[in-house]
Amino acid sequence: MSTESLRIVWVYPDLLSTYGDRGNALILARRAQQRGFPVEVLEVRSDQRLPASADIYLIGGGEDGPQALGAQRLITDGGLHRAVAQGSVVFGVCAGYQLLGVSFFAKGTRCAGLELLDISSDRGPSRAVGELAGDVDPRLGLPPLTGFENHGGRTHLGPGAAPLARVTAGVGNDGATEGAWRGKLLGTYSHGPALARNPALADLLLRWATGVHQLPPLDDTWSDRLRSERRAAVAAADRA
Ligand code: GLN
Repeated sequence: MSTESLRIVWVYPDLLSTYGDRGNALILARRAQQRGFPVEVLEVRSDQRLPASADIYLIGGGEDGPQALGAQRLITDGGLHRAVAQGSVVFGVCAGYQLLGVSFFAKGTRCAGLELLDISSDRGPSRAVGELAGDVDPRLGLPPLTGFENHGGRTHLGPGAAPLARVTAGVGNDGATEGAWRGKLLGTYSHGPALARNPALADLLLRWATGVHQLPPLDDTWSDRLRSERRAAVAAADRA
C-alpha cells in the first residue's frame, strides 16, 4: 500500500459508469474495511488530473462516445501509466477493459487505447447481451466467474496477455475466452457489478494491492446464493 490507507480511484464516473460498475468501488472498500484496512475512495472526473499514487484504479463500462473520450483523456493525462509503472492494480470492465488495450472500435472508428494490456478489440457480428460465465485461469485460484455482459466489441489477446477465463456461457472476448490479465492489470466483460457477484475476485485485487496474502474470510452467503441461482438459470436456459 502506498500510504496509511488503501487508496481506490474510481476513474471518470462522468464517462465510464454504466451498468452499476460503481458498485465495484463500494465492494472493494467494504471488504477492505472489514479486514481492518483504512480506505479512501476518490472519484476522479474526466476534467480532473488522475493521481498516480493510488493503490487500485477501477474503470467501468461506457457507450462508444464516452469510451473514446475517456481513452483520449487517460492517454493525455498519463497518470494511469505512471501508476501502473509503480505497481498499482487496475481493474477494467467492458469499455474500461477494452481501452486498456492497443486499440478498440467506437462509433465505427478504430481508436487508440492505452497499450497497457496486449489486447485489441474490433466489432462482432452482433451485440453480446446476457449472462456470462467462465472457468478462471487456475493460476489465479478463483471459483468460476459469473456476470452480465452487454457489448458490441470482440477482443483478441496478444502473447503478452492471458485470458481471465474460458467461457462456459455467453461470449466474453470471442465466445472462447473472457477477459484478460497481466501482472496486476485485469479486465473483464462482466458487469453485475463484477465484484459484488465475484467476491473472490475482489479479494484477489485486495491481495495484489495490500500484499497481504491471507485475508480473513468474510460471510459471502448472499453472493454465493446469487451465483448459484444465476448458474442454475444459465444451465436451464441452455437445456431449453
Ligand atoms: N462500447 C463498448 C462496446 O459496445 C463497451 C460497452 C460497455 O462498456 N458495456 O463494445
